[in-house]
Amino acid sequence: MTLTFTRSDQIRSWGRVVHASHLVARPPFRDAIDASLALARENGQAVMPYGAGRSYGDSALNPDGALIDMRGLDRFIAFDAERGIVRVEAGLSLSTLIRFAIPRGLFPATVPGTRHITIGGAIAHDVHGKNHHAAGTFGTHVPRLSLLRSDRGRLAVSAAQEGELHAATIGGMGLTGIIADAEIALAGVPSAYIDCDFVPFGNLAQFFALADESAARFEHTVAWVDCTKTGDALGRGIFQRANWSAEGGYTPHRDQTRFSLPFDAPGFALNSWTLRLFNEAYYAFNRRKAGSRRMHYSAFFFPLDAIGQWNRLYGARGFYQYQCAVPMAVGEPAIRSMLEAIADSGEGSFLAVLKTFGTRPSPGMMSFPRPGVTLALDFRNRGAATLALLARLDEIVAAAGGRLYAAKDGRMPAGLFKAGYPEWPRFAALCDPSLSSSFWRRVMA
Ligand SMILES: Cc1cc2nc3c(=O)[nH]c(=O)nc-3n(C[C@H](O)[C@H](O)[C@H](O)COP(=O)(O)OP(=O)(O)OC[C@H]3O[C@@H](n4cnc5c(N)ncnc54)[C@H](O)[C@@H]3O)c2cc1C
Repeated sequence: MTLTFTRSDQIRSWGRVVHASHLVARPPFRDAIDASLALARENGQAVMPYGAGRSYGDSALNPDGALIDMRGLDRFIAFDAERGIVRVEAGLSLSTLIRFAIPRGLFPATVPGTRHITIGGAIAHDVHGKNHHAAGTFGTHVPRLSLLRSDRGRLAVSAAQEGELHAATIGGMGLTGIIADAEIALAGVPSAYIDCDFVPFGNLAQFFALADESAARFEHTVAWVDCTKTGDALGRGIFQRANWSAEGGYTPHRDQTRFSLPFDAPGFALNSWTLRLFNEAYYAFNRRKAGSRRMHYSAFFFPLDAIGQWNRLYGARGFYQYQCAVPMAVGEPAIRSMLEAIADSGEGSFLAVLKTFGTRPSPGMMSFPRPGVTLALDFRNRGAATLALLARLDEIVAAAGGRLYAAKDGRMPAGLFKAGYPEWPRFAALCDPSLSSSFWRRVMA
């Protein structure tokens, strides 16, 4: 059986900057993919796996080419209750996996800021969470997976078997083959609740002091930063540090959103005035509510999931995410320069997130996290002015010896990619010859 591809103009990534037509197939079974990959190879057609489309830029896009939407492959295959290892198809959502795990006292060892992603997408970007310093990346907890390649067929891949391909596939941006299924090692948790401290801080130096002091005592740490501030208050924000709570029971999240944006917000709704107002109000509100709170895991890990289609807030032209990681030795001056450049530009970001990464090495040769500090920002797409600011941020990241995150990117220049990911030639040699995305063509140019 081969797949039927139909044309779709509906495929977009989360940032909604790129609108492009694709041929899309939605396989209901794993067997349907093998033959289609071989056929694509014969016809010289570029194909890409597509998860839930929660990457912000173009890592899952292949305009005018073909996509294999993996969401129909969403079955549980096996569960080893003693070892806490579950084997699932790659199109299963993280949300469904959590709903299965939590009543059993288990949880994925690390999760990103949304549960609306697929397991294949989580592995392909080797996603990280607020506990990177304690648990490493998602791929650290994926002992085995099955990979479908156009040139070699179906392969069982682990650190011990096809080790190079395993290291290339975790964080491999979907380019080394289609992940059909994977084993996930879940972690034991004492409840479905998190005890979280909210600590306001006045500037960047205080952020680094808090991060340093909290890493050993708290499994989860992250900060929101007000990026409209300058001078002595540059880098002020709210630090969250948390551990799983011993109490509260194991109630899973509900899958409904509280509210969904029914249309694109008008362009004028987000401007430097509303940005300042939002940042001021958010800081003041959280400062007043500083202290400890017990929160359900869904409110702590996935606050944005409460609002459906929140990406429409940025208007019809969409928005850019920008996430960099820089080494700790130059972390403070590099982040300071970036915040100054953002404040100068008047572009601003609503959601500026700052976090220190730990030293636990990732199993993926192209994984984004590295020891140091990471800053994630989003900017409404205002065309040339926004791109000029991002180019300025690129210069600061390059000078600091840092890198950008492909899951968040739709415009990184080839030079910055190659400098940030020196393993790229080794990785490129392991890519499947029939797979290609617009991200990959851009950074390989
Ligand atoms: C609100 C929000 C918060 C986020 N927070 C974080 C965070 O805290 N940390 C973090 O690391 N990321 C974060 N992300 C990014 C997100 O976790 C990643 O982009 C993730 O890869 C998206 O998964 P997806 O299933 O939507 O895959 P897609 O976006 O559809 O695809 C992502 C990549 O995976 C590949 N892929 C998909 N399925 C397969 C498969 N079966 N086999 C091989 N390759 C495949 C695609 O080709 C593509 O290269 C966040 C995103 C959002 C929208």
